Amino acid sequence: MILDNMILQTTYLSLDSEFYDLTDPTPLDEPYLISFNPEAAKLIDLDSNSCNDPDFVALLNGTFIPKGSRPFAMCYAGHQFGNYNPWLGDGRTINLGSVNGWNLQLKGSGETLYSRMADGRAVVRSSIREYLMSEGMHHLGIPSTRALGIIGSKTKVIRNSIEQAAIVMRMSTSWVRFGTFEYFYYRREYSKLEMLTEYVIVESYPHFKDDDDRFFKMFCEVVERTAKLIAQWQAIGFNHGVMNTDNMSIEGLTIDYGPFAMLDDFRYGYICNHTDRAGRYSYGEQPNISYWNLTMLSKALSPIISKERMQQKLDDFGAFIYPNAYVDIMRDKLGLSMKLDDDALLIEELVETLHNVFVDHTLFFRTLSRYNGDKTPLYDIVMEPVILDKWLKLYDDRLSQETRTQSQRQKEMLNSNPKYILKNYMLQKAITQAEGGDYSMVETLLYIAAHPYDELPEFEHFAGDTPEEYKNLGLSCSS
Ligand code: AMP
Ligand code: MG
Repeated sequence: MILDNMILQTTYLSLDSEFYDLTDPTPLDEPYLISFNPEAAKLIDLDSNSCNDPDFVALLNGTFIPKGSRPFAMCYAGHQFGNYNPWLGDGRTINLGSVNGWNLQLKGSGETLYSRMADGRAVVRSSIREYLMSEGMHHLGIPSTRALGIIGSKTKVIRNSIEQAAIVMRMSTSWVRFGTFEYFYYRREYSKLEMLTEYVIVESYPHFKDDDDRFFKMFCEVVERTAKLIAQWQAIGFNHGVMNTDNMSIEGLTIDYGPFAMLDDFRYGYICNHTDRAGRYSYGEQPNISYWNLTMLSKALSPIISKERMQQKLDDFGAFIYPNAYVDIMRDKLGLSMKLDDDALLIEELVETLHNVFVDHTLFFRTLSRYNGDKTPLYDIVMEPVILDKWLKLYDDRLSQETRTQSQRQKEMLNSNPKYILKNYMLQKAITQAEGGDYSMVETLLYIAAHPYDELPEFEHFAGDTPEEYKNLGLSCSS
């Protein structure tokens, strides 16, 4: 399909006008293409050569409005660092509508009703980070929003310094957040809360559409999806950095990429967001925070779903839904095909060990994937081999109870433990080059993001330890 034939739906606009604000994008000056993602184009049946169509840059710049589109910003609220903020919403994002079930958004396309004194813009730096990482997460099998392309411009914006403005086109099967529910709950607009829930069921949980108990069942599935998502984050070593309830997806997707990081050396208490001094959103706190966020969602849904039933589900989240989701993923990472009771303990010991041996998280699991009893390759990558040795003895014991062959285990592990992830130092290199007008590394990282489990000899240098000076740095929220 060419852009001219693309027809968008705007079902969100069938909701009450309080849910959104109709608003047109404000274009950037002298826009140019930074990158186009043919993988995402396929999802919306867009021709893979659409990036050569001059209308493509215009689409991202908001000057080519596809047929059927009526641009709008979505209204929501949310708990930010534990405090309720009744008025958030898409302050710099404008929705164009949906095609093939993908809701298209322009992030950085100017002010909206919800901009709250901010400029409605996004910088090249944060746009490249979101563009690449959302694709990276998808290819790691972690539910995420996607991104179709990115443009830069001559428009300047003020952050810590003067930076270039960009727009990234994001795509998601849903943009509804926990905070969207909170908005109507705290305003006591319960009929609108119900309207929103019905909308979400049709958009995201259609299998419950005709079920009399659909509200509660939707809540249960949100809890389960969130548990799975956070377990995947923990297992891959992803620190989101701003887990406010407005950044929690009702579909259990990774959304709103800000000061995120993949762990370099494994640090349980790592805080990627350097304004988060207390570490509320540290890597190790993410499971607890997701429970807290789900509790806030249950409160927002309490006028229309039994509190007792929701509380039971939340209790289950803590007791076994999250722990089981996490242990299952970790079993895959460790190549354990059988489920044994003590596996949770083995994994707990591993986390403590990783914390104490100073090792690159990704490199550790990739190296372990080839483990054949020879410990040297593992000793070579840790600072404290004696501590690791203790855990390896437990692991040896556990492996001896497995029935499948070593080569089968290694093969499975190599498909569960990526060789390549997008570390912040890699993203930063691509950004620095892009700010100087060279976008080749953005393309390289887009390719690497799509091949996390492959051996890519030409990119071997990205598979090793992070250079010391770039390890586990904190990032600014400014974007
Ligand atoms: P975040 O936690 O980064 O997802 O954003 C929190 C809120 O601030 C959301 O409502 C955003 O739309 C809004 N916001 C962030 N940056 C800007 C900006 N430059 N202009 C307008 N709104 C913004
Ligand atoms: Mg957000």
